[in-house]
Amino acid sequence: MRKNQNNKRKKSIRKKISLLIISFVFINILTFLPLNIKNMPLLAGYLLTKEDIISNEEFIMKFNYVKDNVKYLYIDSSDSDLHSEVDKVEALLNEGVTEKVKILISDLTNRFNEISSKNQLELEKLFNEANDEKLEGFFEDEIETVNGYKEEFENLYKDKKYSEAKEVLDSLREYIENNKKLANTRKINEVYDEKSEEDPSLREPKYINGILIVNKEYGLPDTYAPGENAEAREAFERMKTDAANEGIYLNAFSTYRSYYTQERLYSNYVYTYGQAPTDTFSARPGFSEHQTGLAFDIGGLDRSLWAQVDFMYTEEAKWLKENCHKYGFILRYPEGKEWKTGYMYESWHFRYIGVEHSVNFANSDLTLEEYLGL
Ligand SMILES: [Zn+2]
Repeated sequence: MRKNQNNKRKKSIRKKISLLIISFVFINILTFLPLNIKNMPLLAGYLLTKEDIISNEEFIMKFNYVKDNVKYLYIDSSDSDLHSEVDKVEALLNEGVTEKVKILISDLTNRFNEISSKNQLELEKLFNEANDEKLEGFFEDEIETVNGYKEEFENLYKDKKYSEAKEVLDSLREYIENNKKLANTRKINEVYDEKSEEDPSLREPKYINGILIVNKEYGLPDTYAPGENAEAREAFERMKTDAANEGIYLNAFSTYRSYYTQERLYSNYVYTYGQAPTDTFSARPGFSEHQTGLAFDIGGLDRSLWAQVDFMYTEEAKWLKENCHKYGFILRYPEGKEWKTGYMYESWHFRYIGVEHSVNFANSDLTLEEYLGL
């Protein structure tokens, strides 16, 4: 009996201990299960072989290289955003080096290398182009500025800091572009001073491809007095009629001007405004296109806007800009081409060159100088 009772008690104690252990384990599982599931990849890491660990380190190194160097690339809109990709992969990587992450890192590395070599090629091409610029008429200090930019670019490029190199290269190209215009303006004015000092009776009219060119380099003799060109007038009248049918009123308020008329006009302007400002909107005698008989200053209904900057905003000016080439006329001094023509934008000054040439000027800001290769 006693033995039996003892056995019973032992069994009961064992049962209690078992229950305790089971509930302890169970509670633990319940408590830590969510955490463990979350940490499974990390736990799995402890079970990785030595080779796996080396390969994981390799991926982490690869990722870190991309992460550290992505800021040196410039990424245009055609490439999806590599920066946010890096952030995405980094977030995933914090949870372990899974197979998925490895694939993402491989992709990221490939994309990084692809964009890097694309940057390199583009920069090389652009830099070579900038390097080939002749810098004609640049002053010494301007050339020094150019060389400073080039040196800065080359150092950044060597260090593979492409985004910074690109910024310097953009500045270099912009500087060259602007300074070329400045140098060209200086050259035009220099030539103009020389040519306008020459004896006007010795000048010869200059024709290129059958087009009489008059600008700050090519003048006309004082004896050149053809009057208004009949063909140009006829073309203007046709243009005027067609415009009127569209409700646009055009008036050619100034066409042919003789050498002597221009002489009076120019000296009056110089008296009022001074020579340098006058030279941007009025020609010295012998250098006015109006002396050819082929230049037409055209205005609209509002007389107060004739030969005024604000004429450009009128319906008439817009119509002329879009249609004049159909009648043989071109806008002679387009906007933004002051450095090429030597004159400010004149939305009212049109030059007759014949339709066979003028059609090439349609919807462009091409100048006659550029068209004739001057
Ligand atoms: Zn004019």
